[in-house]
Amino acid sequence: MSGGFGIAMRTLDLFRPSVGAAAVGMAQAALDAAVTHASQREAFGRPLSMLQGVTHQLADVAMRIQAARLLVHSAAAAQDQGLTRLGAVAAMAKLFATETAALAVDVAIQVHGARALEQGHLLEHLYREVRGPRIYEGASEVQREIIARSLFRT
Ligand SMILES: Cc1cc2nc3c(=O)[nH]c(=O)nc-3n(C[C@H](O)[C@H](O)[C@H](O)COP(=O)(O)OP(=O)(O)OC[C@H]3O[C@@H](n4cnc5c(N)ncnc54)[C@H](O)[C@@H]3O)c2cc1C
Repeated sequence: MSGGFGIAMRTLDLFRPSVGAAAVGMAQAALDAAVTHASQREAFGRPLSMLQGVTHQLADVAMRIQAARLLVHSAAAAQDQGLTRLGAVAAMAKLFATETAALAVDVAIQVHGARALEQGHLLEHLYREVRGPRIYEGASEVQREIIARSLFRT
């Protein structure tokens, strides 16, 4: 059989944005949990949501999640339109969304403090789950390679 490698690569192009979509979901769940916690938890007489050191981290995460969501939408729309050469847009969607999800979960844990590491906590679960997507369907380094090669393709 010939052409199998190309079919496999095109299949990955189709699935990578869906990994990105799952990562956006994890990132949003982490941000939602952090916002709720920061609104309720008081430290030194006021809620964490009054501390810019906390809220500005969450602002950055929110911005990155929105950018990741748009990259996933863009890759999915390109698929729906039947466009070919989806490698770079699919790689961007997966790379940015999965790296963003890792950041979002890390920041959410920081905002929660030690309680996020208790067994059974949502963030304890997400901390574990968010790691795999940066490896499977092509590690982040591989996504960067795909994007870089697309820059020099003639
Ligand atoms: C939760 C989970 C679910 C999985 N599900 C499936 C599945 O359903 N089906 C399936 O077939 N496989 C599955 N895998 C396997 C997954 O596809 C591989 O783990 C992945 O392709 C990386 O291969 P590897 O683990 O052998 O690491 P290696 O290929 O040994 O790579 C190790 C590391 O080297 C670096 N690296 C590798 N290649 C490059 C490169 N070209 N440039 C720069 N750096 C590089 C990266 O940092 C990478 O993480 C799953 C993995 C996980 C974690």
